[in-house]
Amino acid sequence: TDALVIRNLRVRVEGKEILKGVNLTLPKGEVHAIMGPNGTGKSTLAYTLMGHPGYEVVEGEVWFKGQNILELEPDERAHLGIFLAFQYPVAIPGVTVANFLRTALNAQRRARDPEDKGIPIAEFRKLLKEKMALLNMDPSFGGRYLNDGFSGGEKKRAEILQMAVLQPEIAILDETDSGLDIDALRIVAQGVNALRGPNLGVLVITHYQRILNYIQPDVVHVMMDGRIVETGGPDLALHLEEKGYSWVREKLEGDS
Ligand code: ADP
Ligand code: MG
Ligand code: MG
Repeated sequence: TDALVIRNLRVRVEGKEILKGVNLTLPKGEVHAIMGPNGTGKSTLAYTLMGHPGYEVVEGEVWFKGQNILELEPDERAHLGIFLAFQYPVAIPGVTVANFLRTALNAQRRARDPEDKGIPIAEFRKLLKEKMALLNMDPSFGGRYLNDGFSGGEKKRAEILQMAVLQPEIAILDETDSGLDIDALRIVAQGVNALRGPNLGVLVITHYQRILNYIQPDVVHVMMDGRIVETGGPDLALHLEEKGYSWVREKLEGDS
């Protein structure tokens, strides 16, 4: 089966090594969560996977479909089937959510087949309607201007809808700790739960300990000091929720 495979990833930010050898395999069809204390490099991993220029890869590879995606431009990663949630966070004046999504879908189709003429409007409307129904979204949302005065929750809704329309094979969602916006997290969780299936692998990076109230990950990873130091099932998240991270730290110190 296809998987996103991160091997010994070391990344420097502003001259400082933040990721110190991350290893992680995310197979299609599974939902994985990365948890960990603040400042341990979770967002650095997300930015590196999206190809943000400020993140200098010192060593390592990230394989998907036989390619090291670290050698690809961000849009090439997207066209390969990798979705990075915060890739299009801008407000575009006068562009509706529906038009934006149709443009994004057509760009993806053309990247895969230069002869592609774009999805016919009627077919796109049907697709959008189906996906919005699947995600329990009000159809009027498609007519809103993109990111124009969107709340945090509405931005998330647009992001999840984009994911539903583009149908990626791997999705990486970094739920930032800005205000621990529970509404936004709930929207993401409902979206992931609705879209999860054998053709989609999801990596949810969370700063929110009680993620299990919202998403049931198949696998939970703990990141600490730039490395994945524990991997387990949902019970690991429960344990972290109860006991915090100190036991992981102690165990690490005991090992070294
Ligand atoms: P997390 O998401 O786990 O809270 P981050 O990846 O955001 O952690 O940050 C890891 C470390 O890298 C922190 O010490 C942070 O200060 C530093 N860092 C991250 N991004 C930048 C950046 N763009 N410029 C400078 N330092 C950064
Ligand atoms: Mg942080
Ligand atoms: Mg972060």
